[in-house]
Amino acid sequence: MPDKFSEAFIQALENKDTESLLAIPKSDLHNHLGRGCRRQWLSEKLNHDFPPPPEKFDGLDGMQNWYVGAIRDFCRAHDALNIRREGCFAEAGRNHLARFAPSFSDTDIEEFGGVEGFTKYWDALKEKYCPDAIYEPELAFASYEDIEPEVERAEKYFASGYFKSMDVCCGEGYKPFSDYIPLYKVAEKYHIKKRMHVGESGSAEDVEAAIETLGLDEVHHGIHAANSPRVMKLLADRKITLNVCPTSNIMLGYANNYAEHPIKILVENGVPVTINTDDLLVFDSPVDQEYLRLYEAGTLTAEQLDRIRCWGLYGK
Ligand SMILES: [Zn+2]
Repeated sequence: MPDKFSEAFIQALENKDTESLLAIPKSDLHNHLGRGCRRQWLSEKLNHDFPPPPEKFDGLDGMQNWYVGAIRDFCRAHDALNIRREGCFAEAGRNHLARFAPSFSDTDIEEFGGVEGFTKYWDALKEKYCPDAIYEPELAFASYEDIEPEVERAEKYFASGYFKSMDVCCGEGYKPFSDYIPLYKVAEKYHIKKRMHVGESGSAEDVEAAIETLGLDEVHHGIHAANSPRVMKLLADRKITLNVCPTSNIMLGYANNYAEHPIKILVENGVPVTINTDDLLVFDSPVDQEYLRLYEAGTLTAEQLDRIRCWGLYGK
């Protein structure tokens, strides 16, 4: 459903008007906090030229190797993790993210010495950079970790009331989906939205199995659902949103290019999608640019992209 910014958004895409695109409310619902800032922002803050990423990575391992060598090691040596975290909120302000769901890992919490410490720290950043945003912090668990300690952490952190959604990330296929049931039960108990990284490297059938086994409310990525009309119908019928990250998919080799990105097939089959950044510091494409790239490649029309923008903001 269009909003009062729709006309201006469509025009801004047609005119490739980045300044207007930045100023119009958008969402980013899949965004790993520690890698959520812009490379240029970090370069300025640390007075260090971080190199641009290559056009494509050799899968998740290739991405991780580049990140460690080009960014992480320098940040570690200069104690810059908090600056990167701040940059994630700064970007929410700069790109006018009116709905913003950064994803926290346990290291983003545990070093603040308890629930009160971390909520205070993050809330102050939110107030500083994006006070009017609908802020929906997500807690992410690594797919390869032992479930039992993760269940304990989920109990502790979800009881705080701070987190609005849960994710399992960091690679698909480590365990059968049923292994994660105890973790998703905790999310259910605290009425936390249930998400998972699935169908990024995995198949349409994986997306379906994860939804049926874990009762997912939304899916991060899920792009390979586009290979199955049956799974797309399930997503469309149940209005299960896929939080899609186009540049991430292309750079990791899960999609060929923007023009052929599966988001086109998903949208044409009525699957609800949003457009997101994943790891902005790595993939180097802020959310305004994600929209523009899909428009310029002819993947989706300006009107279709505006409907996606509104779905990300209002879920309608
Ligand atoms: Zn991700």
